[in-house]
Amino acid sequence: MKSVLVSLLIFLISIGNSIAQNSNDPETVTAFINATVIDGTGIDPLENATVVIVDKKITCVGKCETPKGAKIIDVKGKYIIPGLVDAHVHYDGDGSADPRPNRNDPERFHRSYLCSGITAVFDTGGPIWTLDLRDDAEGSTAAPHIVAAGPLLTTTPNLSEEPDVRRLNVHMDSEEAARFGVRMLSWLDSDAVKVWGLEIPEDREKTRKLLQVVAEEAKKADLPVIAHGHTLESAKDALREGNASVLLHPVSDTLVDEEFLELALKNDAVYITAMGYTQVLLAAGSSAGSGYSKISFPEQKIPLDCVDPKTRSRLSLIDSLPPKKWEFEKFRETFETSYKTHSSNLKRIHDAGITVAAGTDAGNLLLPHGPSLHTEMETMASAGLTPMEVLVASTRNGAKAMGRLDEFGTLEAGKVADMVVLEKNPLEDISNIRSIELVVRGGKVWTHDEMKYNDED
Ligand SMILES: [Zn+2]
Repeated sequence: MKSVLVSLLIFLISIGNSIAQNSNDPETVTAFINATVIDGTGIDPLENATVVIVDKKITCVGKCETPKGAKIIDVKGKYIIPGLVDAHVHYDGDGSADPRPNRNDPERFHRSYLCSGITAVFDTGGPIWTLDLRDDAEGSTAAPHIVAAGPLLTTTPNLSEEPDVRRLNVHMDSEEAARFGVRMLSWLDSDAVKVWGLEIPEDREKTRKLLQVVAEEAKKADLPVIAHGHTLESAKDALREGNASVLLHPVSDTLVDEEFLELALKNDAVYITAMGYTQVLLAAGSSAGSGYSKISFPEQKIPLDCVDPKTRSRLSLIDSLPPKKWEFEKFRETFETSYKTHSSNLKRIHDAGITVAAGTDAGNLLLPHGPSLHTEMETMASAGLTPMEVLVASTRNGAKAMGRLDEFGTLEAGKVADMVVLEKNPLEDISNIRSIELVVRGGKVWTHDEMKYNDED
């Protein structure tokens, strides 16, 4: 009986939908006028510009006729940029100290993203439900676009002590396992093949052979290979043997060399920054005396207006973690050294003409979804990129990493209407990225005030 009712309901809904589609609804036309437009391509800002949106798409940017009957939004003195892209996130974590993954209504992070001006994210590895989440988000104007890699191919069996965590991950300890892993991902409809922990195995020759197998299978399945490897050697293996098109982490152990730059250029690979966490950890750590260190969530570094109360209370639990016996000065030294290496590598890689995209690794400890990207952008600027270069890396290049540049990432006619109105000029100071007034996702206009969380929420 229940199934009959469900079928009837589905039938009625489908009739409703076809009526809605068949009716001659007038198009929704909106014109943002008097804007300074920074379109994400890297060209100089367009002054006194207009952006016309018809339904979900941008139809004109720059000197445009304002269509008759359009809803006019005057943004004089304000700045329009493309929706931001975080090219490295994990929806299965919330930034707290809890082990991943927790399913914990990940939909709540959609709002944190839009509230932070982020209209697209690359989930670079997680449980199988992240693929369903991706499908649900795509048709919604209340969620960012999500590209999702799903389960990982790992180089080690012990990714987590939790028996349930990522149980579909494939331990690629043989060529058969590597082949099986890629085929499984293709069958699951993953968007990418993520190879994890490439720096771990000591047997480099075996890892290289496995990467060749992954590359071969991924090519057959028409899937990009995206790679986790923190060392120069593992990053080069991923590019050379694995034909990787995205490197998800900065090279941390040493300065990159000519061979690395040549390999990355040859693959037209995208280098994801993921370097802000060092600054977050430095801001979070403090000495608790007698060689003990303590961490507490650094809200001055990552403001939490866009983060829901449930996540906030879980982040605040970090403060109650027992102090650990790390000597804070050593801890500081480690992260300061990493930050210096990341900065030098970022500048060198960027100047060599390799595509750099902003990504945070949000979902991991101390990296809440949404505002972590602003901190990442500030860290990139402090590494020597100009605000314009940071903006391009956080819009166009993120879309390129996701394989969706044809659809979004810049403000151009024909692209999805994803954009952000800022009160202050981000080219003067990249921290002005936080001065968000409006966020447009697929033509739907959200005010920052309605998306941020007030105390009574
Ligand atoms: Zn990650």
